[in-house]
Amino acid sequence: MSATRVYLSTTIPYVNGRPHIGFALELVQADVLARHHRRIGDDVRLQSGTDDNSLKNVLAAEAEGITTRELVHRNASTFAGLREHLSLSFDDFIRTGSDPRHRPGVERLWRACEASGDLYRKTYEGLYCVGCEQFYPPAELIEGNCPEHGTPPQLVAEENWFFRLSRYAGRLREEIVSGRLRIEPAGRRNEVLAFIAGGLEDFSVSRSVARARGWGIPVPGDPTQVIYVWWDALGNYITALNYGSGVRDAGQRHGADYERWWAGADRRVHLVGKGVLRFHAVYWPAILLSAGEPLPTEILVHDYLTVGGARISKSGGTGAGNDPAELAATFGTDALRWWLLRDVPRVGDADFTPDRLIARANADLANGLGNLVSRVVTLAHSCRDGVVRPCPSPAGTSRWLAAAAGPAGRPHAAGPASQPAWPEDAAALLTAIERSPGIVRAALADFDFRAATAGVWAIVEEANRYVDATQPWHLARAERAGDREAGERLDRVLGALVAACQVLAAEIWPFLPDLGARLAAACNDSAGALPAPQPLFPRIQVPQYPATATRSAQLLSARAGRPALSGAGAARGS
Ligand SMILES: [Zn+2]
Repeated sequence: MSATRVYLSTTIPYVNGRPHIGFALELVQADVLARHHRRIGDDVRLQSGTDDNSLKNVLAAEAEGITTRELVHRNASTFAGLREHLSLSFDDFIRTGSDPRHRPGVERLWRACEASGDLYRKTYEGLYCVGCEQFYPPAELIEGNCPEHGTPPQLVAEENWFFRLSRYAGRLREEIVSGRLRIEPAGRRNEVLAFIAGGLEDFSVSRSVARARGWGIPVPGDPTQVIYVWWDALGNYITALNYGSGVRDAGQRHGADYERWWAGADRRVHLVGKGVLRFHAVYWPAILLSAGEPLPTEILVHDYLTVGGARISKSGGTGAGNDPAELAATFGTDALRWWLLRDVPRVGDADFTPDRLIARANADLANGLGNLVSRVVTLAHSCRDGVVRPCPSPAGTSRWLAAAAGPAGRPHAAGPASQPAWPEDAAALLTAIERSPGIVRAALADFDFRAATAGVWAIVEEANRYVDATQPWHLARAERAGDREAGERLDRVLGALVAACQVLAAEIWPFLPDLGARLAAACNDSAGALPAPQPLFPRIQVPQYPATATRSAQLLSARAGRPALSGAGAARGS
């Protein structure tokens, strides 16, 4: 059986401001899917990037008094830097403003739709939100304002190029209803189908050079217009694969990456926020249909995060407690990823506060998992000098899992013959271990990160219950008093617990790669024995402040070691 080939993408954000935690959610979700698929042996490519060609970037640069190029370069670097802050594993990162692969691909996509007769010029007047970079029909406005931004759109009248979207309503519907284009969760799929059923109108796909301030990719053959930034941005999913850059002499239409990762992939998966669903589930597939290229197979939609009850501003700017790089530096990448994966529901908005992140990390990572590993490794050292023969890992959770955690996660050296059998009273723990891979697989297929992490967490809970039930420190005392049977039982109990920790290291790795690697190092042999016990996840200590609206800022500044703030009302974010 050949490996499934999976191409995963995040959206590419505007770079008019700094990244916020809502985008971090999408990045982390995509990273988990990529790591999970790599681990089960699939062939995976994960792509992210930045949308540099937006008019919003032009306006932000004007406001700062710098060139658009300077602004884009500076901010795009901040987005690319999230790779380190969030421990992301993307294989490619495209900056649409400077990547040499992008413009030829966008032009090629334009030409392909033009050849299909789907592009035409028309004079148009409409209400345009620069924040969204889209026209709104009056019926979609809320009290005359953009539904996303709450700001009044501007009236724009000009001659533009239009795309014949109306032609593709039937085929789009068929792709979605048949499941060939899967949209998750189902509520979002229904939303798209309702939008299509309401009638699809052709949409403007260019801007006058004047209105775009000359920023963007010129329309091929029409230097008075630049290509609509959404057309440009959506194209990134294939331009990064060298769409349209085939070697003509070799008879290739496109680059090898395109043939491999788009045309030849089993799954083409886009992760998107609910606010850009229509662009990805209607406009983008229609453009691909027009160009005669395969459609995405899945569009996975996440909802939004609020921060301390307040909506994250979409037009840039980060408030206290909103910047993922700062949150990762303050609380740690593991804690931030864990909150995003463990607390954010599959459907519905979630509210982020540093308090929630701290509570979740301390309860799960410091107490639940940290205590488990600490107790097991400490016992292994105090009773067996760190030399424990783990029980055999059940099929499906065996050595490849440990190997996936990297060089630190070398499997235990002992061969199967010397491994103790699983104790009968560890049945519940063994069951949790056996079930976990299947639960994770099914949950991630459903784009349900909470359910996936719950599958892993069942092992932690059962393992802690097993420690409490077997009380191995009592067995150790009995052994020291000459009870040989207690000693033998201690071997098997420790064998079961070390095996559980080894499986956990591998199972948690796609979600928390850093912690997974530390755990693998802690519970696998190094030079014939387990390494000396070390805290896996130190509890996050926070000073006690009264709950106020500025608590986020207080927590951040306190954790960052800034001067202490005194009194409730005195505190202000920096
Ligand atoms: Zn808007």
